[in-house]
Amino acid sequence: MQNLTLLGATGSIGRSTLDIVSRHPDRYQIYALTANTNVEQMAVLCAQFNPRYAVMADVDSANRLKAMLDGCQTEVRAGEQALAEVAEQSEVDIVVAAIVGSVGLMPTLAAVRAAKRVLLANKEALVMAGALFMDEVAAHGAELLPVDSEHNAIFQCLPSGYTVGSKPSGIRNILLTGSGGPFRELPMAEFESVTPEQAIAHPNWDMGPKISVDSATMMNKGLELIEACWLFDVKETDINIVLHKQSIIHSLVAYNDGSVLAQMGMPDMRTPIANALAWPDRIESGVEPLDLIKVSQLNFESADENRFPCLRLARTAFRQGGTSMAILNAANEVAVENFLGRRIKFTEIAQLIEKTLNAVPSQAADDLPTIIQDDLRAREFVRQHIQLISR
Ligand code: NAD
Ligand code: MG
Repeated sequence: MQNLTLLGATGSIGRSTLDIVSRHPDRYQIYALTANTNVEQMAVLCAQFNPRYAVMADVDSANRLKAMLDGCQTEVRAGEQALAEVAEQSEVDIVVAAIVGSVGLMPTLAAVRAAKRVLLANKEALVMAGALFMDEVAAHGAELLPVDSEHNAIFQCLPSGYTVGSKPSGIRNILLTGSGGPFRELPMAEFESVTPEQAIAHPNWDMGPKISVDSATMMNKGLELIEACWLFDVKETDINIVLHKQSIIHSLVAYNDGSVLAQMGMPDMRTPIANALAWPDRIESGVEPLDLIKVSQLNFESADENRFPCLRLARTAFRQGGTSMAILNAANEVAVENFLGRRIKFTEIAQLIEKTLNAVPSQAADDLPTIIQDDLRAREFVRQHIQLISR
C-alpha cells in the first residue's frame, strides 16, 4: 500500500489522478489532498478519500473547510508552508505535483528533497528553475516521472532502464507532438478578436483554463520544449515540434539506426498518470482502448512560428539560459491571467512576453532567491505595462 500526497487535488489532473486511485484501493491510499480555494469540492473529496490531511493554500478557505469537516478524521491545514510539509512527510511514498503555475515550485521541491517518487504535471516549476530542480533530483535521489502526456510518451519510448535526468544514448532526436490547439487553422487576422471562451475550448483535451490558453497560443508547446530539455538532458536543437491534430501519438523518439518509437493512445491524461503512478507495472486506468480503424488517419504538419510566436520566444529563452525561463514563464502567467480577465487581447499575450524578455535582464539562475526575484520583476513589468495600455 502506497501513501499519496496530491498537490492540486481539485484540478483537472487532480481529478484524473483520484479516478485512478479509486480503481486501485488495494495499491494506493490518500495521505494528503491540497487545493487553493475550492472548499466545496475539497469537502466532497475528503468524504470520499478520507485523507489524513487536507491543505487549503488560502487561509479563509481552510477555515471554511474546517467548519464543513467538523467531526471528520481529516486534519485541515492552511498556507504554503503546509503544502510543502504534506509533500515531505516520511509516511508519504508518492507526490503528484498538479498545482498550476509557479506556486507549485516550493511544495514540488520539498517532495524532491525528501526523495519521493514525484509525478510531475506542474511544468511551470521545472521551466522556471530547471537546472536547480534537476540538480536537487540528482542530489537527493528522488524518482522523477513525467505526467505531461508528451514527456511521459518520450519516457516510455526511451531505452528500458532509462532514468529521468540522464542523457539517453543512441538517440538522434525527439519529436514533440502537439495538436496545434483550437486556432491551428484560424485566419491570422482573426487572432486579435479571439475570446477566452474560444481559447479554452480545446478540440482534444479537457484541461484547466491556464493550460488551455497556453495550448491556444502554443506557449504550452514552448514550455514543454523547455521541460523536455531538462527532463531528458537534451539541447533545444534536438527537439522537433510536429503538429498532429488527432492527438493520438503523444510523442516520438528517433534513434541513430533509423528506428522511430512512438507512444499512442486516446487523449486522456489517465494513461500517463497511471503509467507514472505504477511504473514499471501497468495498471488499469479506465481509458477507452484505442481503435485505429475508427481514428483511420494520422496527420502531421510543421509548426509555424509566425502563427505561434510563443514557440520562438520559448526557444529564445532556453538558449539565453539563466533566469530567462523564469522571466518567460512569469510573464506568460500574468498575461494569460489578464487575457482570461478580458483586460488584454489574445495577441497581446505573446507581445507582452517578448517585451518582458527584452526589458528584464536575465542572470545566472544559481539559487532560488535569484530565480524568484526575476520571476517577480517580470510579473511587475507585465502588470505595469497592462496598466499603461488600459489607460
Ligand atoms: P487546474 O486549473 O484544473 O487545477 C489547478 C490546481 O492547482 C487546483 O487544484 C487548484 O486548487 C490548485 N492551485 C491553483 N492555484 C493555487 C495556489 N495559489 N496555491 C495552491 N494551489 C493552487 O489545472 P490543471 O489543468 O489540472 O493543470 C495542473 C498542472 O498540470 C499545470 O501545471 C498544467 O500545465 C499541468 N498539465 C495539465 C494537463 C491537463 O490535461 N490538465 C496536462 C499536462 C500538464
Ligand atoms: Mg502536454
